[in-house]
Amino acid sequence: MLRRNCRTWLRSRVRSSLISTRSTPVYHAARLSEYAGGAQIYLKREDLNHTGAHKLNHCMGEALLARHMGKKKLIAETGAGQHGVALATAAACFGLECEIHMGEVDIVKEAPNVSRMKLLGASVVPVTFGLRTLKEAVDSAFQAYLADYRNSIYCIGSVVGPHPFPLMVRDFQHVVGVEAREQFREMTGTDPHAVCACVGGGSNAMGIFSGFLDTAARLYGVEPLGRGDGTGNHAATMSYGREGIIHGFKCYLLQDEEGNPAPVYSCASGLDYPGVGPEHSFLKDEGRVRYVTADDRQAMDAFHRLCRLEGIIPALESAHAVSYAIELARERRHDAILVNLSGRGDKDLDYVLEQYGAGDG
Ligand SMILES: *Cc1c(COP(=O)(O)O)cnc(C)c1O
Repeated sequence: MLRRNCRTWLRSRVRSSLISTRSTPVYHAARLSEYAGGAQIYLKREDLNHTGAHKLNHCMGEALLARHMGKKKLIAETGAGQHGVALATAAACFGLECEIHMGEVDIVKEAPNVSRMKLLGASVVPVTFGLRTLKEAVDSAFQAYLADYRNSIYCIGSVVGPHPFPLMVRDFQHVVGVEAREQFREMTGTDPHAVCACVGGGSNAMGIFSGFLDTAARLYGVEPLGRGDGTGNHAATMSYGREGIIHGFKCYLLQDEEGNPAPVYSCASGLDYPGVGPEHSFLKDEGRVRYVTADDRQAMDAFHRLCRLEGIIPALESAHAVSYAIELARERRHDAILVNLSGRGDKDLDYVLEQYGAGDG
């Protein structure tokens, strides 16, 4: 019921006005395909969204929903600040208050995003307990919401959390899958053989997968293997996790013996979450989606390839999906592979240059 309502409502609001202006192109990456030496690779260009990633899709949906429900204030957590900036943008667009909870450690690390949120009119609440990063920011934001739930709405950053958040965010990102399928058909006359997307919490992947679940396309969720296997070196939840509970929902979870969330790492800060959306956990068990990995080195290699071969600087998160697509292209020479390029890499430049230099000359 809720699911139908959410989608129907959004469609009625969005179909005519926003979709036409929202749509991002599907792009045939001819030179990358040639490099991969087999299949043809296509990119759904979510990196071209305002604020630089797919996140604005669900933030605009959340802000529209807030306005529809007569709420005055948006409350959310943020880790690296990307969700906070996208939500602050949506709040400014619709004239709503915005309160972003962020760990003190992240506030120092991600100073430019803190400035962006403030410029956009959001208040940033520093979280001073525990490890002072994303997990505590979620706890703090939940508390603030519970203290003011009549006036405010909680705007979660991915397809995670208690019902109905995973469903809402999936439906808000569904537009990516619908568009991509229509555009791909227009370009090639058929559906892709494979669809790849990176998986942190899982919103960009659920968005594009939900447009292809009823096709014959093979679906691949690409998780970050970071520095390799071993607790604390990666955030490959599906490959190494087991059933557990985090932030009010059940999913595959990287955890210690007592069931506490394990420490996680990836060069892509948007992917380092020890849990994953419950619907992804279901799709893994059903066997409908295959969950695979790319490590830091592979993601970094794909990052540089896309820069040099296509003139596109991708987010490090998205580079994980590109990396796997290149691998797949080599194996399945006659396939057409669609990648959700979830974001652009402006935010990652300092990190890449510091860690790896500007490439191989
Ligand atoms: C936040 C982010 C992700 C990870 O979030 P999902 O919910 O897994 O999509 C991926 N790519 C980019 C560019 C991001 O900013």
